[in-house]
Amino acid sequence: MSAVHSIDTGTEQELTDGFHLIIDALKLNGLNTIYGVPGIPITDFGRMAQAEGIRVLSFRHEQAAGYAASIAGYLTKKPGVCLTVSAPGFLNGLTALAHATTNCFPMILISGSSEREIVDLQQGDYEEMDQLAIAKPLCKAAYRVLHAQDIGIGLARAIRSAVSGRPGGVYLDLPAKLFGQVMNADAGRKSLVKVIDAAPAQLPAPDSIKRALDVLKSAKKPLIILGKGAAYAQADDAVKALVETSGVPFLPMSMAKGLLPDTHPQCAGAARSTVLKDSDVVMLIGARLNWLLSHGKGKAWGDAPKKFIQIDIEPKEMDSNVEIVAPVVGDIGSCVAALLDGMGKSWTKASSDWTSAVTKKRDENVAKMAPKLMNNNSPMDYHGALGVLRTIIAERPDAMLVNEGANTLDLARGIVDMYKPRKRIDVGTWGIMGIGMGYCIAAAVETGKPVLAIEGDSAFGFSGMEVETICRYNLPVCIVVFNNDGIYRGTDVNPTGGPDVAPTVFVKGSRYDMMMQAFGGVGVNATSPDELKRAVNEAMDSGKPTLINAVIDPAAGSESGRIGNLNPQSVLSKKK
Ligand code: ADP
Ligand code: MG
Repeated sequence: MSAVHSIDTGTEQELTDGFHLIIDALKLNGLNTIYGVPGIPITDFGRMAQAEGIRVLSFRHEQAAGYAASIAGYLTKKPGVCLTVSAPGFLNGLTALAHATTNCFPMILISGSSEREIVDLQQGDYEEMDQLAIAKPLCKAAYRVLHAQDIGIGLARAIRSAVSGRPGGVYLDLPAKLFGQVMNADAGRKSLVKVIDAAPAQLPAPDSIKRALDVLKSAKKPLIILGKGAAYAQADDAVKALVETSGVPFLPMSMAKGLLPDTHPQCAGAARSTVLKDSDVVMLIGARLNWLLSHGKGKAWGDAPKKFIQIDIEPKEMDSNVEIVAPVVGDIGSCVAALLDGMGKSWTKASSDWTSAVTKKRDENVAKMAPKLMNNNSPMDYHGALGVLRTIIAERPDAMLVNEGANTLDLARGIVDMYKPRKRIDVGTWGIMGIGMGYCIAAAVETGKPVLAIEGDSAFGFSGMEVETICRYNLPVCIVVFNNDGIYRGTDVNPTGGPDVAPTVFVKGSRYDMMMQAFGGVGVNATSPDELKRAVNEAMDSGKPTLINAVIDPAAGSESGRIGNLNPQSVLSKKK
């Protein structure tokens, strides 16, 4: 344990303080990386944490640091830690905290705060804000520690809240005065808590397993949907065994791609609309029936009646959108193991009429897409550019893939096959822009693998300044900016003829690659799929921070990518 020594009433007493107790509590619980931005009152804390062996990564904006912490939590099943200053820094970190909660990622946002006495009397302190109250509705739990002797318990509560049950974001408020509080080092040591079994197994009820298997057995056209909860659970072998023993076609949600390879014979990714419509029993494993699955009803799901089996750790998730006839509540590892157990050795696999119909549809769709992916057009279209990146990921299945944008996201998700679990990280449940560079940094730091980011030009802009962070820590990140001069498309015009360009249009012919060069990284301007391929392979081989400006035809995109239907329509505006 780190400690400060001093002379106290003539006898030498070993002392510690708030700074060191927080550091010791983090280390005791294996939280060895902090993503943050320094400033009052946490600057010295960051310095001391680094001196004590914690990896402290400083970002240019708290939101990016927060997104990094959130995805670190997803990748490791330990809470990612984000550290910010008070009020404005705290607020910048909140978007990521809410994102972590929404996506069920464990994360702890630790913010320094101003003096309670002044804040609570609203006397106008430096960066005055009642941060705890503001954080509460945006996270799973929020705590404030006022006394040094409570630091151990405070962090233990934060860790448990973040990772147990359905994971999520936790806020930990540390007022400036706490850091300097002194206490006896031995008492301090004893006050720390090493959290035992932070995310205890939650076993499903045997009845629920039997019910689920009865429903599955009755199916003529079963489907398994794997969500990012299944990927998070790290029960990869059990999930694979369940899918293969059942013989049921599976559909991976975006971040569950690769949990089983997209090229697996049972993968129905390329026959998505068919399996949603035609299936009669659907088993959801760590996937919610939210907007991303059209709420489990309506046109996308067809007219045939459906029965849903759902495996989730959160009991309240059941019946959230439609009736769940077989709820299985527990952690995915335990639930899947119990299902496998119940299936035994003699389980009858899904009928080959159904599985071969799905395979046929999938193969047709894949064949239809293939020639588009091989075009060498310049300027590039999405398919030509993504065809190249698809091959690169096939050749480098260990690489991490970060993906955000509109068309760049929707098309890359469909085109780029994944081969291993938890390799694809993207915009998640909210479909947010801005996760890009934070995710790249955490992916490189937490996995030690090379990272390929496929970024829309607009999406990149939200966190683009973090390329300096990537260069500063010399991380093996290759960013490909799909530059089509704007949002959705770069071709909109201002209908008034006034001097401003249309709201969706950026500077034409921008050179994002030069941003990377400004910080000593490699920048490449790629105008054809061949050039793009060469540049990405070089970056992945060298591990040097690289940004490739991929010039995409400004007319190639479509409004809002695949979710244009979510835009409200005005009866007054003429349809284009
Ligand atoms: P996707 O967007 O990929 O469909 P969602 O985020 O909608 O995934 O759903 C993930 C689900 O997984 C959430 O309902 C969450 O409660 C659940 N979940 C997360 N971790 C576990 C776990 N270890 N065991 C069981 N369920 C989990
Ligand atoms: Mg664009």
